[in-house]
Amino acid sequence: MNNRHVILVRYGEISLKGLNRHYFIDLLVKNIRNTFKHFKTVKVQKVQGRIIIHIDESELQDGLEAAQRIFGIVSISPAVVIESKMPVIENAVLKEAEEHTFSSFRITAKRGDKRFPMQSPEIGRYLGGVVLKNFSDKSVKMKDADLNIWVEVREETYVYSTFIPCHGGLPVGCSGKSALLLSGGIDSPVAGYMMAKRGIRPLCVYFHSFPFTSERAKEKVVDLAKILSKYTGKIDLYVVPFTDIQTKIVELCPERQTTIIIRRFMMRIAQAIAEKNEAQSLITGESLGQVASQTQEGLATTNAVVSLPVFRPLIGMDKQEIVEIARDIGTFETSILPYEDCCTIFVPKHPETRPRLKFIERGEEPMMAEAGKMIDQAVEQTEIIHL
Ligand code: ATP
Ligand code: MG
Repeated sequence: MNNRHVILVRYGEISLKGLNRHYFIDLLVKNIRNTFKHFKTVKVQKVQGRIIIHIDESELQDGLEAAQRIFGIVSISPAVVIESKMPVIENAVLKEAEEHTFSSFRITAKRGDKRFPMQSPEIGRYLGGVVLKNFSDKSVKMKDADLNIWVEVREETYVYSTFIPCHGGLPVGCSGKSALLLSGGIDSPVAGYMMAKRGIRPLCVYFHSFPFTSERAKEKVVDLAKILSKYTGKIDLYVVPFTDIQTKIVELCPERQTTIIIRRFMMRIAQAIAEKNEAQSLITGESLGQVASQTQEGLATTNAVVSLPVFRPLIGMDKQEIVEIARDIGTFETSILPYEDCCTIFVPKHPETRPRLKFIERGEEPMMAEAGKMIDQAVEQTEIIHL
């Protein structure tokens, strides 16, 4: 019988607290199945406190990469599955040893099938001897060995030695849906990633001010949403036509207040789209003090127009910390492409940094007669891109 390849998936016991365990695991299995839909993978199985992905050897590398991005998984190991017969196990262990550079090693044997004639310590000692016989320059080290070969003897036997740490978190979807205000910048994709890691399924809302922002700028946001979807599974991107509203604001409102008023309209529209799609919150990439509109007063005045909770996972982070995550998750290189952003085009010379709600509402007054109609129209004309 040919050796088969699997990915052993471990999920965190701690993160199960307070959540329904079965619901959590079933959702994780479902998300894994979705991620592996395009693979030749035969099966995703729940067994004894972990999940096993059966995979074709030719797709193992891609499979490991894909599995690493699924939230709720703490670590994975590529393993071979073989018959529970000692000569077969010996061969697999030797092959595992050949594939690594090491000077010290150990065997960690676990017998789960009591019908197997040797007990765990005996299996370990025996296989250790086999490795020593074939690799005469190596030594056994029980603590901190360079190579630890795990041999789990069950109905079939699993042999592996690599543990790949993953992102952890909660399975996407277990915390419900949220609308992520996704710009082409560095911050908002990171904010989306962080909330998805807590089990949120994001839908993305992008405000497009054509022709002030080009097709290329929109493509960039599409690309960012695609990268995010590698972590979240399918994502819908709502592209809101924002030109009319933005132009009107610049035309009718005091220059110093335009940034804040533009942001208030973004929040209103994002909330309307969220409510239409059963999303229970909004997510932004704001970080305290990073720009003029992100002071406490700025955040308060933009927050004042919405009733849904607004999640700002980057609020206490430095730019450098955000950049590190952006690099780590693969959005940074796309985010720094130099296409214009609708907020940077209309930046006032002296933006309000300590806006008071009363004055912003007064400044916004000329917009309000038409506001409801304009917002409805923007929502209606929103283009939905399925990614
Ligand atoms: P980012 O790097 O995410 O663009 P930023 O530091 O440039 O953020 P702002 O431009 O003030 O900050 O935007 C603050 C937040 O508002 C963004 O993180 C994003 O969530 C949202 N936002 C800004 N512009 C847009 C846009 N064109 N479409 C959708 N959301 C936007
Ligand atoms: Mg921005």
